[in-house]
This record gives sequence, C-alpha cells and structure tokens, in this order.
Amino acid sequence: MVAFARMGFRGRLLMAMMSVVLMTGLALLLVFMIYLLQDEKQRAADSLDVAERVTVEIMDRRSEVLIASLQVLVDDFGFRSAIASGDEATIASVLENHSGRAGADVAMILEDNGSPIIALGLDMPLSGQPFPGLLAMARNQGMAAQVTSLQDNAYQMFMVPIRAAGLRAWLAAGFVLDQAFASTLSELTGTEVVFKLVEQGTASVLTTSSRDDDLTSVADQLADASPDASLLETERYFVRSVNLTDAPDNPVRALLLINRDQALASYWQRVTGLLLIVLLALALAALVVLFTARALGRPVLELARFAADIGEGRQPQTPLVPPTRELTTLHLSLDTMQKKIRDREERIRFNAIHDELTGLYNRKAVMDRVAPALAEPGSVWLIGIRLTRFKALNDTLGMRFGDQVLNLVANRLQATLPDHAEVIARTSGAEFSLLIQPRTTDTPDPLLASIRDQMEAQGIIDDTPIHLQVAVGALVIPDHAGTMDEVRRRFNLVMDQAERNDDHIATYQPGGDELHLRELTLSQDLQHALAEGGLDIYYQPKVRLADGHFVQVEALARWQHPTLGFISPDEFILLAERTGQIGKLTRFILNRIAVDQRQWRLQGLDHGVAINLSALDLTDTSLAAEVEQAFPSLEGVTFEITESAVMSDPRAAMLTLEKLRALGANLSVDDFGTGYSSLSQLRQMPVQELKIDKSFVMKLNEEPQDQLIVQSTIDMAHGLGLSVVAEGIENQESWNLLRDWGCEKGQGYFMARPMPSGQLADWASTFQHKARALTTATSGDR
Ligand code: C2E
Ligand code: CA
Ligand code: CA
Repeated sequence: MVAFARMGFRGRLLMAMMSVVLMTGLALLLVFMIYLLQDEKQRAADSLDVAERVTVEIMDRRSEVLIASLQVLVDDFGFRSAIASGDEATIASVLENHSGRAGADVAMILEDNGSPIIALGLDMPLSGQPFPGLLAMARNQGMAAQVTSLQDNAYQMFMVPIRAAGLRAWLAAGFVLDQAFASTLSELTGTEVVFKLVEQGTASVLTTSSRDDDLTSVADQLADASPDASLLETERYFVRSVNLTDAPDNPVRALLLINRDQALASYWQRVTGLLLIVLLALALAALVVLFTARALGRPVLELARFAADIGEGRQPQTPLVPPTRELTTLHLSLDTMQKKIRDREERIRFNAIHDELTGLYNRKAVMDRVAPALAEPGSVWLIGIRLTRFKALNDTLGMRFGDQVLNLVANRLQATLPDHAEVIARTSGAEFSLLIQPRTTDTPDPLLASIRDQMEAQGIIDDTPIHLQVAVGALVIPDHAGTMDEVRRRFNLVMDQAERNDDHIATYQPGGDELHLRELTLSQDLQHALAEGGLDIYYQPKVRLADGHFVQVEALARWQHPTLGFISPDEFILLAERTGQIGKLTRFILNRIAVDQRQWRLQGLDHGVAINLSALDLTDTSLAAEVEQAFPSLEGVTFEITESAVMSDPRAAMLTLEKLRALGANLSVDDFGTGYSSLSQLRQMPVQELKIDKSFVMKLNEEPQDQLIVQSTIDMAHGLGLSVVAEGIENQESWNLLRDWGCEKGQGYFMARPMPSGQLADWASTFQHKARALTTATSGDR
C-alpha cells in the first residue's frame, strides 16, 4: 500500500490497467477451461458411444457366425446318431471332433432337463444344471446366447437343441473371450477393454485388453457405480459399461475405457493456447498503458519542471500542454503563481534596500553602491547628515512627531540636493546619507555648509515651529577609505568629528582613523597605567630672576608607554579629558606630588610646587576637597589654569578657583597670550600670577615684536597687581631681558629641564653656584 502510494502516475496507471486486463483474462480463461473440460467429457462420452455400438455389433456378428456353425453341427446326421446311440465314448469322440470344427472352446451335451451328459474343454467337471437361465431362454426361443463366466473365464455361451426321433438333448458351446479377443476389440473400438464378472454385488476382472494393473483396479473402483451410466469416471479413465448380448442377465459386462490423460491432452493444449493469448493481451495492454502514460505524463512532468524552475527563481518559458481541462487549470495556476512570486520578490527586493518610513534608500543600498566605488577611478563623496538633538526631540514630543521630523528632513534632502546626488538614504535612526559624484575637485566643505544651512532652516510640524540641528560630515571614496571596513569606521569618525566641531561640519582628515585607533589603545592603556602607578611626575624648577634663587617647581606628568614609547602629556591629558579619566589622573598626580613634597622637606628643600589643572578639573566640584585631603597645607602650592579652561564653564570654574583660593593656594594663568581674553577680564578672576606663554619667550632675544608684547604684558600685569612668570627661557639673553623688565620668576631649559623628584636636590646645589656666577656677572654688565 505504501509502495503504491509512493508510486508515480505512470506506475499507478500501469498497475490499474494491468490488473484489469489480468483479471479479465483469468476470468475468461477459467470459463473457457470449464467449458473445454465439459466439451472434452462430451467428446469422451461420444467416443464411448461409438465404441459401444462397435462392440455390440461385433458381438452380434460373432454370435450369428457361431450359431450358424453350431447349427451345422447339430444338423449333422452322424453327430445326431452318435448322441442317440447313448454310448458315452462315441458321443465324446463325435463332440470333440465336431466342436473342434466349430471352434468352440468348451462344449457339452446336456440332457433335456439340463444335466450334463458329457463336457469337453473344462478343467473341472460340472455338477447339477449349470446354465438354468440360458436353458430357459433356449426353451423359449429355440436357442439362446449369453455371455457368462465359467471357471474364471468369460465365455460367449450358446444353447442349441439337438432334435431327432427319440432324441431330445442340448448342445452348449462356449467361445472364450480371452485377451486376444479383448485386444482385437480394443483395436477396433479405440478403447481399452475389460471383461468383468458382476455377481451379487462383487466384481472380478476376467480379462483385460492389455496387461495393465490400472485396468484391473478400475473395475474395483467402479464396483458401486450404476452399470447403466453413460459416463463413469475414475482417476485415469472415462469408462462405459456395456451389456454384451440381448440377454437381460449377462453376468459378464465389458468395460470400455478411454485414458483421461490422452483425452485431456488436447484440452491442456488448448488451455495453454488460451493462456498464451491472455499473456499476449497482457503484454499488449502494458505497451498501450506505457504509451498512454507517457502521452499523459509528459505534459504533467513538463508542468512540474516549470514549477520547479519558478521555485528556483528562474523565469522559464511556459510549456505547451494539451488542452485538457485539468492540465489547463494547473497551467493557469502555475502562471498566476509565477506572476505573484515575481511581484512579491520585487517587493522584498524593494524593502531590502529602502527605508520604510521615508521611502528613501537604506544603509544597505548605500553600502552596495559604495562597494564598487572603492575600486573605481573617480571619487565619490559619502556625506552624512546627523540630527544631533533628535533623541531629545523624540523623547519630549513623541515618536509620531519624531517620524514627521524625519520625513521633513527626507523631503528637504530630496528637494534641495544637487542633481548629481546619486543616492539619498536614511542610514540609521537619525542619520541620513548621500552619495555624490563631485563634478570638480573642490573640497566638500561648501556643500556641507549649504546642506547644514538648508536642514537647519526653520520648519513647521503640527503648527509647531522647529529648529533642527545637524552635523554634516564627508568621506571621499576611495581617497579616504580603501575597504568597506574603513568606510564604516571613518565615516562614523568624521560624523563624530562634525558633531564636535563648532561649525558642525567635517571632512575626513587622512590619518584621523589611525589617530583614532591610537587613541583607543592609549585610552585603555592609560587606565591600566593609572591603576598600576605607571605614570611618573617630573619637576621643572622655577627661579627668581633677580638672584637665581630656586623658588618653585612645576609638576609635569610623564608617561612612558611600554610599546609606543614616550607619550606627550599634551596628548594623553587631552585623551584623559575625552575619555572621562581626567578626574582619576588628577587625583593620581595630586597624591604623587604630595608624597614627593614630603620627601623634599626631609631633604631640606623648601621650594613651592605648581600643579597644572585642566578645564574639566575646574568643573569638578569635588576637586577642592580632594586637594585639601592630599596636602596638609596649601602654602607654597600654585595651580596653573588656562583662560580657555575658565571660559568653557566660567561659573563652575570660578567656584572651584574661589574654593582653592580660600584654602590658601595661589592661582596662576598659564599660557598667557595665546587666548583671546583681555587683561581686564582677568581681573574678574581670583588669580595672583600670570605666566607668559613660552611661544613669546623662547626667541625673545631675537624677536623685537615678542620683546614688545612681553614687556608691555609684564607692565600691565604689574598694573593689575599680578606677579609674572615667564616660561620657555632658553638662553641667558632672554633671562637678562625679563629680569630687567621686572619679571619675577622664570622657567626654562636654560635653567633646567623637567627631572625626576630625586634629582632636584643635586640640581639645586649645582645651580646655586651657577646662579651666583650668573647674577654677579650680569650685575657687572650693567
Ligand atoms: P605647560 O603647562 O605649558 O607646561 C610647560 C611645557 O613647556 C612643558 O611641556 C615643559 O616641558 C615645556 N618647557 C619648559 N621649558 C621649556 C623650554 O625652555 N623650551 C621648550 N621648548 N619647552 C619648555 P610638557 O611637559 O610636554 O607639557 C605639555 C603640557 O602638558 C603642559 O603645558 C600642560 O598643559 C600639560 N601638562 C603636563 N603635565 C600636566 C599635568 O600634570 N596636569 C595637567 N592638567 N596638564 C599637564
Ligand atoms: Ca603649566
Ligand atoms: Ca605654559
């Protein structure tokens, strides 16, 4: 059943057709076999009819002939006189002589009452009246014939009267039905012949036409059968029982037998023929089925292949199918299916590269277009537009409003962009991207600025006027990035940069990515360095310019990176600020300085210390408390701060400065001259000292303009009541100039480079001598 279910269309058709043909064939065969069998029996019966007639005819003829010759015998005068003589020897001699002539096998003379007078040819003498039936019949008819058995042989017996004057006797003569006769009969009738004695229900075989044990047993098998049935059957024979003479009570009958095997041989022959025809029909049917199945199956298979092709995403030609109803329906459904699949695929493909909300392209579309541009000769600008305060807008005014904002930006981009913009896309929540094929070799900046301005123009959503803020960045492909990975990273970088820049636009700067990577590494390593004390503090002395007295040191952080070597404090301080580690760094430095300061005191050094603070330190409200905790006294401690640090968040900075001032620290304005603030603004700050930037000092001896600036700065500072420090003194002349202009303190490589804490004592004692020589020498100059 399972096998049938799994079978193909052709197989099933074949199976069905073949079983119909086979069943019909077998039914026909069966009917024919039954019919043929009956036919064959009928033929056997007919043959036996003929054989019976022949047998009876032969017996009758023989009777006539024998009777005739017996008649001649009893009419013979000599014979009759011999009988009449009553002399037994004479009678026996005559009987033997005459009956021998007639060919009788047994012969006897009976008295009129039937008792035998003399008998010849018998093995045993007879007793009583041996043939009462035959005698009675003869008395009636004049003579009589009967087939009977006598001492285990079958005989054709005749009873003929012998009549003469004074003589009344009977001649009984018997002609044996022996095997020779049976054989002759068999030949003439074409059957086997068996002579059988039937007496009181028992049957015994007397003679058979051939020596075959089977023939003997057949008689036994038919013992019960009615002798008058037209056709008797045994295992091997069709049989007819024949009454041999007219006499009603012949105890001997002849059985005529036809061998069934022979009779049925032709039957089997015909059955085999029929079987062959059925097989032939079966084979023919199979051929027809296969042919039809092919004819029916081919269009189905073609449609199946058509469906498979559609499944594979190919666009196959629709096959030609015969116009039957089922196939046409199937064909039409497949066609519709193909169209629907195509539509759906198109929709999927569209969705795959488009943004659902704005209908613009999406990030994938942009990247798909960027990938080939990496290898193309000309350059393409990848421009990003980021809505910088979108999250706040979304949070406060709701998602729906946010969506409207995004659609507004999308519309503006589409409306205002130069027609050489190739792809306009929304690449993430609040970020849009453009791909532009630039027509000139200009830098993208003017375009970026114009995009920014157009996007930031006031808009109205739900009657609410809104002002958007955007950052616009550009990456030139492939100049700025050679792989997709670089594109992604550097694009993010330039967008971050644009957001940081004051004008909110940025074009990627070559090397920026490497710097970024370096920053990533350094940022992580700085964290470890701070945790494991991997940072050092060097100290650079400041001296009183008037007499060279060592008065203070500036603490400068040093970081020797295990693999990247010396990292400038300018770099890692900025990094610490950007990565939120500056608080930790400052705390680390403060504590380290405090430790070193205790050491100096033990060594008998009593100089002060100047500590640099970064802009973020000033906004840290806990700084003052930490400083107070680190230093027992802030006498002799100066904090160097830059103007720009104060300006980024003046109120918080001022608060911190006042706290530090209140704790007793001095405050110095670092890098003075590089910022924008004027001296009058400085008055608002609680500072006591001004530190002229080294850029004005290092070449002071050669630059008249520097000299002018420095000298007037010193004067004005003094006018405001501030003392002045000059950094970057690199030669004696600069020292002299500054000292002459009244600058109180100086710092620079001319006196000392920054050094480890442990070297300060040695330097101090050496410098003492040098300074003495120096000041006396210069005093002498004057
Ligand atoms: P700054 O505060 O202006 O420090 C003075 C810088 O000038 C130091 O560089 C010093 O080595 C250098 N210098 C001193 N005399 C001379 C000279 O005669 N010629 C020349 N060419 N340079 C001279 P450094 O150590 O590289 O520090 C750079 C900047 O790093 C410092 O500038 C300061 O802003 C920052 N910095 C250093 N250490 C710290 C720190 O512990 N905390 C904070 N917040 N910033 C620090
Ligand atoms: Ca400084
Ligand atoms: Ca400085």
